[in-house]
Amino acid sequence: MLIRFAILPLFLALNLSMCKKQENVSPSSQQASASSPTPAAAATPVAASSPKITKPVVDQTAQVIIFCYHRLVDKIRYPGTEITPAAFEAQMKELKDRGITVISMQDLLAWKRGEKNIPPRCAVVTFDDGWKSQYEVGWPIMKKYGYPFTMFLYTEGVRGGSLGGGEAITWEQLAEMRDNGVDIEAHSATHQDLREGHTIMLASTGGKKTKTKLTGPQYEQWMQNEVVGSKQLLEQRLGIKVNCFAVPFGNYNEHVKEIARNAGYEAMFTVYGQPITFTSPMDSIGRYAIEANKPKVFEDAVKMIATSTGGAAAVAEVGAKDLVTQPADGETVRTAMPLIKANLSAIGAIDPGSVQLRVSGLGVVPANYDPKSGTVSYQVTQKLHEKSCSVIISAKSQGKKVEAHWTFGIEEGAAGGTSPIPTPKK
Ligand SMILES: [Zn+2]
Repeated sequence: MLIRFAILPLFLALNLSMCKKQENVSPSSQQASASSPTPAAAATPVAASSPKITKPVVDQTAQVIIFCYHRLVDKIRYPGTEITPAAFEAQMKELKDRGITVISMQDLLAWKRGEKNIPPRCAVVTFDDGWKSQYEVGWPIMKKYGYPFTMFLYTEGVRGGSLGGGEAITWEQLAEMRDNGVDIEAHSATHQDLREGHTIMLASTGGKKTKTKLTGPQYEQWMQNEVVGSKQLLEQRLGIKVNCFAVPFGNYNEHVKEIARNAGYEAMFTVYGQPITFTSPMDSIGRYAIEANKPKVFEDAVKMIATSTGGAAAVAEVGAKDLVTQPADGETVRTAMPLIKANLSAIGAIDPGSVQLRVSGLGVVPANYDPKSGTVSYQVTQKLHEKSCSVIISAKSQGKKVEAHWTFGIEEGAAGGTSPIPTPKK
């Protein structure tokens, strides 16, 4: 945009001097005739050839950690699924203090679809199993911090269901949460191992419970109720759209995934915690289950994405203009496997071991840093798949973290995967 404004006076000047000679000058020939050695004019072709981006540009290097909580109680009796309200609140505060943004599940999914951008370091908070303490204790704390969150429910565990006792959340409480923007998602009907042939508990109409192992058509029928029926019940009872499925105990296999996919779930969740990236598969998204007896799980999860203890403010941003980069910021290249280079000498003294290069779609790459020239470089070895590529360089300079971002485009046809080289149709 700046470039266009800069060259406008030049056009006017040309027009004034040449208006008598060239009455019918078209805008494109004006540009061609303005090929004088002025810097502004020389920059024009680059700006004109940059690709049109129809989708919002999302930060493909962002990372998300997802937490899974169960009961919030002052007196811990089952440390495997409980946490004290004080410990829970301390963790919510820590996310804020460390500059980790708590986003909603639907924002996470929109980012994965390439529809919405999210901050570089995010967390999603989920509560499993529908305990009333999530409504009474968890929700007020989340409100205090202004955090969105998701409830994963197994429908028979809601109050009044065959497994919903006095500690269970009620449908009325869920409706109130829904009205206040809480995301409500599915966690099966009876919360059991969904893999074929595993021991499950079946409740007869009289309330009698029997242990059994289901296979074949009986298993498939039972699964329909667990995966599809639970989704339909939540959608119908609450008038919502359910697109997430948390697998009970995180136990699944390809068949379980297939049934969930066919039921219309967009994402499936396990309890194998790991940072979620732009390319993480949607059918096995890992969550960190936070339990009173394993406080280290939370700390480790946070450390996985919080690269600085003091939050975002501790990072000094270096403008891409202060760096000499290749490809240049805003440039469009013709190869999906470019050589990426930047000269860091403008930043000052750098701790050579601290230099890190991130490339969107790839993550951290094994870049070379030459302390003599101050140059960090990486030859991309796998085709970049998107039309736009973001690069983040970070390093420590005098104990302080410095970071620079820039973006370049990849010419359509050069990008691998989704857009193959167009061949003329015959
Ligand atoms: Zn559960």
